[in-house]
Amino acid sequence: MEVLYKSTRGAEEAVTASCAILKGLAKDGGLFVPTEIPKLSLSMEELSKMSYQETAYEVMKLFLTDFTEEELKACIAGAYDKKFDTDVIAPLAKVEGAYYLELFHGATIAFKDMALSILPYLMTTAAKKNHIKNEIVILTATSGDTGKAALAGFADVPGTKIIVFYPKNGVSPIQEKQMVTQAGDNTMVVGIHGNFDDAQSGVKAIFGNKELAKELDKAGYQFSSANSINIGRLVPQVVYYVYAYAKLLEGGEIKDGETINVVVPTGNFGNILAAYYAKQLGVPIGKLICASNDNKVLYDFFQTGEYNRNRPFILTTSPSMDILISSNLERLLYRIAGDDAAKDQELMKELTADGKYTITDAMKEKLGDFCGYYVTEAEDAQEIAKVYKDTGYVMDTHTAVAACAYEKYKAETGDETKTVIASTASPYKFTRSVMESIDAEKYGKLGDFELVDELSRISGVAVPNAIEEIRTAPVRHKTVCEVQDMEKTVRGFLGVE
Ligand SMILES: *Cc1c(COP(=O)(O)O)cnc(C)c1O
Repeated sequence: MEVLYKSTRGAEEAVTASCAILKGLAKDGGLFVPTEIPKLSLSMEELSKMSYQETAYEVMKLFLTDFTEEELKACIAGAYDKKFDTDVIAPLAKVEGAYYLELFHGATIAFKDMALSILPYLMTTAAKKNHIKNEIVILTATSGDTGKAALAGFADVPGTKIIVFYPKNGVSPIQEKQMVTQAGDNTMVVGIHGNFDDAQSGVKAIFGNKELAKELDKAGYQFSSANSINIGRLVPQVVYYVYAYAKLLEGGEIKDGETINVVVPTGNFGNILAAYYAKQLGVPIGKLICASNDNKVLYDFFQTGEYNRNRPFILTTSPSMDILISSNLERLLYRIAGDDAAKDQELMKELTADGKYTITDAMKEKLGDFCGYYVTEAEDAQEIAKVYKDTGYVMDTHTAVAACAYEKYKAETGDETKTVIASTASPYKFTRSVMESIDAEKYGKLGDFELVDELSRISGVAVPNAIEEIRTAPVRHKTVCEVQDMEKTVRGFLGVE
């Protein structure tokens, strides 16, 4: 069965998977969605015997139907290799009865590596298939983790350039150091005086600028996206939910067909949407628990059916979830509106004009798979400290939002269904916040890399390469700009002025 991709806003013809990956965002400003969610063609029993790479092929071939077997297998082999520090790629850690799906064993130690280590392969393969002559310029807004993972993936990939915008004062010290030390002649990293929403809106505006697109085309460039608005990010993320279920089955932790719940620390709604797609593929998933930090716009949405971004943007210790405009929610809206592009367009117009919208009762009824919880800064820190003291397991600030949300869910519902918690970053990426959660007085005085060594000592986990690399690496990127100058910065980098 061929799966095509159409825009959530409906003004565009359905396109092939490779074409949707190349475009990133649809011309009408909508996001590409599959015309149909396929079904798994193998049983869980069969999948349980497979490696991560084999599972990736079985899942991705269902969505990326215009890639040949040879192409897709080459992309997978290139992506999921020794860049990961474990052969199983995404291990499950059982801690206090929950299963932490560790998605941070890739090159930049956040879950973004799961998709961004394969996106460059998918993108260059797609360019070849579609006879693209232009150089592809990856334009990316980041709340901290996407940026580095995309830079690592695209650095020195022939036929591509990558530009990353991050909120200058909105990322962790380690996240910033990881990005500004990035090597590669085709890379550019820019801090903006603004927050993640400003960065994302700025990037979307550059994408939507038809005049600029024309000028770039003349100069031999075209844009694409490495954000989760690109369907090439979402599809690889579906894989690990299938894999997690299969491995729980293989390990005898669940019976075939047994329902599991999934908790996802959420920002731009990409990761949890991938879990929703996995459920529709046929993975027996019950509840999708959406965990938010103090920027609890999604929690409020699931409570009331009203999405309202008119509120202060709060900087938290889980910066990758500091988002008020959660892009991928648009894909869910489209779905629960019955694939109704007109309805989606209407809601997105309201969001742009008034910063809010309310879904219909009929749409709200279709949200039964989801529930939302939010976690305050104090609760997040307590969760890290409690789990460390009880078990010795050290988790990062984002994962702790999910772990604490799960506690709240259990207390409220009494639901003891076996549960997978998406563990989205290594604690080494947020060392200061993590260590100060465990003992503020003792660790508050130490420097960033002293904390790294101390974390290694208390957790017994070796310092990852990604951190060793940046201890002494020189800063290569110093550009900082105002939000309104993002386009100018892009033009400057590409020499299109
Ligand atoms: C990006 C990110 C998230 C949020 O994921 P979304 O797909 O944007 O919802 C959560 N935790 C970490 C560590 C991240 O990097």
